[in-house]
Amino acid sequence: MNSEYRQIFDTTNQGLVVLDRNLTVTDWNRWMEMHSSIRADEIIGRPLFDFYPSLQHKQAFTRAVKCAFSFGSFGYFSQKLHHYLFPMRNPHAGIELFPRMQQHCTLGPLRDESGQINSLFIAVQDVTEFVLYEHRLIEMTRVDSLTGLYNRRFLTQRLEEELERSRRHGNPLCLMLMDVDHFKQINDSRGHLCGDQVLRSLAQTLRDMFRKSDILGRFGGEEFVCILPETTLEKACILTERCRTSIADIELFYQNTPFAITISAGVTELTVNDSADSLIRRADNAMYQAKQAGRNRCICTPPPPPSP
Ligand code: GH3
Ligand code: MG
Ligand code: MG
Repeated sequence: MNSEYRQIFDTTNQGLVVLDRNLTVTDWNRWMEMHSSIRADEIIGRPLFDFYPSLQHKQAFTRAVKCAFSFGSFGYFSQKLHHYLFPMRNPHAGIELFPRMQQHCTLGPLRDESGQINSLFIAVQDVTEFVLYEHRLIEMTRVDSLTGLYNRRFLTQRLEEELERSRRHGNPLCLMLMDVDHFKQINDSRGHLCGDQVLRSLAQTLRDMFRKSDILGRFGGEEFVCILPETTLEKACILTERCRTSIADIELFYQNTPFAITISAGVTELTVNDSADSLIRRADNAMYQAKQAGRNRCICTPPPPPSP
């Protein structure tokens, strides 16, 4: 390679690798050195698999290599499908989400002057930052910004999915609705900022009370919902009662003066005839009964008996 091409090869912001027919590395650019921590003089002349015995998607890779040598075709490993080809540390933020650098990789033939394919190249593009942005945007469409819990849109979507799953596997599923008692008074007497803080504290308390598989969210205003997959009504009632007492125990302060809040809750269990709407309606009715009965209580409504 002449010196100008060499400069481009070594300064381009992507990984470039050249392999011969035996998959021996014949070139390895500076970008690959930096991100793989393998120097060119270490790897050139050695089989790629000596350094990457666990190269991702080895079967697809080997197929793409064969096609490139036999038919001169190009292979593409998209991040969406493969995440990455070369396992490399993520050099950006969000390591906890993506420990490995996310990559788009292209593989293609290199022809000599007679048109013969004796080697191939792999170009590696780091797309981790785009994937992180995408992940954040998706999160923003799912999460309520005040409490950090799932929003109504996501809850509705998940409820449909969980209903379907529960029916398919014949597992029980319960739905819990909670509403803060006399919340308007808190806003009116202590201000909206205090009201917001109450909602955050309540969300934090609830977050600590559920399993990972439960789907907790803010349904609107001061109303919270939890979808409880694989949970019987009996267990859901115990859990709801525990939520109620934990919320009543939250120590809240306004201008150094303590105050407390209570919730009313309704719980019900899925039946074969339920839709998402009918399930929500039954839980909502149960919650309304809890309000009517004096608030600060839970009402568990068993599903209606099957029609004859
Ligand atoms: P009940 O015991 O019957 O539920 O009475 P309530 O006062 O809690 O019910 P109501 O529906 O009359 O009032 C709910 C209040 O919640 C009214 C609304 O201003 C307030 N609210 C809704 N969303 C927010 C929010 O994001 N922040 C704050 N601070 N208040 C909110
Ligand atoms: Mg209320
Ligand atoms: Mg309400």
